[in-house]
Amino acid sequence: MPTVERSPYVGRFAPSPTGPLHAGSLVAALASCLDARAQRGRWLLRIEDLDAPREMPGAAASIVDTLAQLGFRHDGEIVFQSRRDDAYRQAFERLAAAGHVYPCACTRREIADSVTNSGESLAHGGKPYPGTCRHGMPAGRRARAWRVRVAATPLRWIDRRAGPRCDRLDRQMGDFVVRRADGPWAYQLAVVVDDDAQRVTDVVRGADLLDSTARQLHLRHLLGLSEPRHLHVPVLVGPDGAKLSKQTGAPAVDASRPVEALDAALEALGLGRIGEESIERWWSLAIMRWARAEALPAAR
Ligand code: GLU
Repeated sequence: MPTVERSPYVGRFAPSPTGPLHAGSLVAALASCLDARAQRGRWLLRIEDLDAPREMPGAAASIVDTLAQLGFRHDGEIVFQSRRDDAYRQAFERLAAAGHVYPCACTRREIADSVTNSGESLAHGGKPYPGTCRHGMPAGRRARAWRVRVAATPLRWIDRRAGPRCDRLDRQMGDFVVRRADGPWAYQLAVVVDDDAQRVTDVVRGADLLDSTARQLHLRHLLGLSEPRHLHVPVLVGPDGAKLSKQTGAPAVDASRPVEALDAALEALGLGRIGEESIERWWSLAIMRWARAEALPAAR
């Protein structure tokens, strides 16, 4: 029997179940899936349900169903971050044993007050953590979070669309939170641990996460993990120019008209519409279109 050649490519879509799948998250899902399929790779689905208070009951099942109705077929079992506490703990303990993390007592207000005169701002409008608890918490204070130390050196990496990037975590963020003292693991730590455990070779996601990549690469370096390739695709914005998101009430994708929903997402990726009636045919044409466009680096 002939065997199907698979490339070592492993991609993933990792939605947070804070609401149903909307047009913006569909673009990220489609890009990651098309990239994996165009390279004959595996495409995994991971539900990032770490933050229970922000979760919407039923959203995870609704996202999984909508993706299935749209013709997405994930490989392997769906991974739920809420069940991976041990893996995050182990990584955290490795960081702690090597002295890379420390407890921090600062409240948001204290951080904001102490940086008002620092003159440095974050790309997203905030200020870097000034390192108040880096050498120990003030006496009598209790830890609110654990932070990882960042270095005062440039962190260089390449995005397949945005090109070479150079981040300075010390200026952009400062030491950042990997765990809240009341339990929850930070997205930055969990995503690194999971992408590594699932042997993800290619992270394809929305450009709103470009800013997170340097933090994730920093954690990878500290944990001795290899780097995946990155591709950040444009995010959809609403009429007010703000990113479409569950928080701003973006409507759920209408999976009863799958080709229309898929075409809108493909168009947002700059690949036009297909308009084909059958979903199977839509997918094979879309994969071919993606593969051709990827061969022309300027296309995306
Ligand atoms: N869970 C994140 C989100 O829904 C995406 C994480 C990632 O792709 O790295 O925005």
